[in-house]
Amino acid sequence: MDYDIPSGTRPREREENTLRVLDVLIKHGPISRIDLSRKLGVARSTVSVIVNGLIEIGLVNEIGEQEIVGAGRPPTLLEIDATSRQFVCVDLDVGETSIVLCDLEGKVMAAKVDVMARATPEIVAREIIDSVTELLERENLDWATVAGVGVVVPGPVRHDIDTVQSLVFGWPQPVKLQAELRKCLPEGIPLLAENDVNAAAFAEWDAIGYPPDLFYVYVGRGIGSAYIYDGRLHYGRHFLAGEIGHMTVESDGVLCDCGNRGCLEKHASVPCIIAAIHGESALDRGRAYYQSSLFNLVRQLESGDSRSLAVVNEAGHAIGAALYNVIQVLDCEKIVLSGPICMLRDYIMDVIKLNLTKQLGRGTLSLAFSQVGEDAKAIGIASLMREAILLNTGGGDDTPFGYLGTKGAERLLRAVPKEGSGT
Ligand SMILES: [Zn+2]
Repeated sequence: MDYDIPSGTRPREREENTLRVLDVLIKHGPISRIDLSRKLGVARSTVSVIVNGLIEIGLVNEIGEQEIVGAGRPPTLLEIDATSRQFVCVDLDVGETSIVLCDLEGKVMAAKVDVMARATPEIVAREIIDSVTELLERENLDWATVAGVGVVVPGPVRHDIDTVQSLVFGWPQPVKLQAELRKCLPEGIPLLAENDVNAAAFAEWDAIGYPPDLFYVYVGRGIGSAYIYDGRLHYGRHFLAGEIGHMTVESDGVLCDCGNRGCLEKHASVPCIIAAIHGESALDRGRAYYQSSLFNLVRQLESGDSRSLAVVNEAGHAIGAALYNVIQVLDCEKIVLSGPICMLRDYIMDVIKLNLTKQLGRGTLSLAFSQVGEDAKAIGIASLMREAILLNTGGGDDTPFGYLGTKGAERLLRAVPKEGSGT
C-alpha cells in the first residue's frame, strides 16, 4: 500500500475494503461515497479515506455531481479510471496467437495477432513476452501500468501443480509454461494461466451481469464446458471438470479418440457435422475451413436441403441430451452455448430445446447463445484475474491462483512509478 493507513484500521482489513470499493465501482459505478458506504456496510468516513487514496494513485476519478430531488448538497459521483491499468491477455494457439490489452472493466484497448509455431515452453514464453512488449510500445505504454498477465491455453491447466498441457503445442504431458513465463516477466507482475473454455465462460459471466451460476458450452473443433458457481469456476479434483465432449450420448455409437463410444464430440462437434454432410474426414482442417464450411451449410439449410437438416437435427438432439443430463446433476439456471456452432443458431436451437422441454417449462432455466464476440477468451482471463485480485477468489497463497490474488492486489494498489522505470 502506498498511502497512509488511518489509525484504528488494520492494514489487511483496509486493503480488503479498498478492493471491495474497486469491485463496486467497476460493477455498479458511477456511484457516490454515501452509496458506496451503504452498499459495502462500511462507515462513510472509512470509505472517504479509501476513495481519497484511490484518487491519489490514479485508480478513481470524481466525475461530477449526482442529480438529486430536493434540497441539500448533491453528492459527488465516483468512477473507476478503467484504462489507468491494463491486463495483458494472451490467447495462445498454434498459428494464430492473439495478444490483447484489456482495461480494468474488461474492455479491449488494443490487440495484435502473432503467428506462433510448436516449440518448447521456454521458447514460447520468450516469444509471448517479446510480443507483449512490442504491443505495449506500439500503444505508448510500458510494463509499469500492467496489472497482470493472463495466458489462455487450449488444454488442461492445473493450478495445484502450476502446469499446462496442450496437444496442439506438442505438450501431451504437463509442462511448466508458467514458470518459464515468470522468468521472462518484469518482477512483481502477477501471472495466471487458464484453460480456454474456462476463460471464455468468465467473459460471458461478466457480460450477462454476474449470474449466480452459469453452465457454458463451447462447440467448435472440440466440445468443452465450464461451470461457474457463486463467481468461481468449478475445476474438479484433477482440474479436468467440464469434459462434456466425452459424455456418452449413444451407448454403442462411433469410437472416439478417448477410447469410449458414442461421445458427444462424435455427434455434434463442427468437424463431425461437416464430415457427416461431405462424407469425408474434416478433422484438423483449421479455423478458416470450418468457417467457410459452416457458411456453406447455412446456405444449404436456408434452401431446405434435407440431408443438411437431418445432420444438424442429429447434432442438436445430441447436445440437448447431454444438457439434459447436466441439468439433472447440477440444477443450474443459465446455460450458454458458444463457439462456431452459433452460426447454426436458427436451425439448431429448437431441436436442443426439445430435449429440455420439461426443464424449460419450469421457467427457471434459460438457454441462450453467447453474446461475447471473438475476444471472449482474452476478455475472460482479464475478468478472472480481476475477480481473483478484488475478491480473492483463488484460495490460499500456496496456489498460483491464490498467489495471483495477493500479489495482484499489492500491484494494483501501488502508485505507478514514473515513465521509463521499466516495471
Ligand atoms: Zn470421447
